[in-house]
Amino acid sequence: MHPSGLRRVTERRVAHLLLRSASLSRVQLARQTGLSVAAVGKITVSLLGAGVVERIAGGPTRPGPMLGRPAEYFGLARRRPRHVVVELGVNKTQVAALPVAGPVGDIRTAGFSTTQNLDEFERRLTNGVATLNIARPLAVLVSVPGIVDESERRVLYSPNLHWTEGTRLFEAIARAIDAPLVVVQEIRALALGYLVHAEPRDSFLWVDIGDGVGGALVIDGRLQSGTLPFACEIGHTPVSGNRRACGCGGVGCLETLLGRKGLLRSAQRNGRKSRGWGRLVSELAGKPLPAWLRATLAEAGRVIAGAINTAGVSKVVVSGDLLERSPEVIEHLAKSINALALWGRFGSVRVESAPRERLLGLARAALDRVVLAPTAAEEAIGLGNRGTG
Ligand SMILES: [Zn+2]
Repeated sequence: MHPSGLRRVTERRVAHLLLRSASLSRVQLARQTGLSVAAVGKITVSLLGAGVVERIAGGPTRPGPMLGRPAEYFGLARRRPRHVVVELGVNKTQVAALPVAGPVGDIRTAGFSTTQNLDEFERRLTNGVATLNIARPLAVLVSVPGIVDESERRVLYSPNLHWTEGTRLFEAIARAIDAPLVVVQEIRALALGYLVHAEPRDSFLWVDIGDGVGGALVIDGRLQSGTLPFACEIGHTPVSGNRRACGCGGVGCLETLLGRKGLLRSAQRNGRKSRGWGRLVSELAGKPLPAWLRATLAEAGRVIAGAINTAGVSKVVVSGDLLERSPEVIEHLAKSINALALWGRFGSVRVESAPRERLLGLARAALDRVVLAPTAAEEAIGLGNRGTG
């Protein structure tokens, strides 16, 4: 690789370490990257000059006598907001102003009800962004549901927000905020948020159980993309014997059983009075799982086992509010995956739950795609935006 490409790779490694730690000294950065202190010194000087990194006063205090000069500590820039975040949700849209360091300190946010009309959405977005009071943003980070072509900035399909389909949503955002657009599909943003704390070369399948059921695949610390503008759409794998119609036009998709609406419908079929999602989560908490939910988790395990047999990973990370209240859900899912996945016969598939840290994931995407964007050398060998996450 051309030396400038290599420098960018090491800058990004330093930035990733600083995204997970409040502050680090040159010696700590050298230890964690395997670079020399002198090499780290050059990188910090260049990142300080570019406004990506700041000197952090004090740093962690250490007991005992100090020998020599006190160490200087560095952190990602946090003094002023540089990115506008637009998190488009089915019911609510959130906007926020983030510094390069991500969601640290007091974050300015504003929210409004997601409309079903593009002109009205653009008007509310413009008003919301005005309240953030952010001057000359470096990037607009947009998280959207549905099947999204991130590089072409196009929504192919959005079952709950059909009006966002095509390129017009992103055109409206570009009119409202004058800065380069970074588009991240909402589940992929969650996987990127988890990667901030994970081992740098971690590999896992992410499964999110929410309004829909989505996935993302990370191999060797890199968020994977398919040649088609979607990957890991495990929610749309049909389940044998399931006749429920799905928003995608198919019949029997896993999402129609495991998504919020599907779970509510199954609960009602099994004698529960209709009282909404929050009540269902509370009712399930701390109790043995009902038979209908065990059956649904067994089907989810089958679909997930198929996905990890194909991808060749031995770890599954699951997010969703159902898991936060009922640890039995993850236990049952883990049993089902281990009974069905090939790796379950040789070793053990690790299945864990994790919080949704979407803002952190978007901050990481901004680092990789805008602040420390791939160089021409990286693009030339196929390490451009599609691979860096
Ligand atoms: Zn479907």
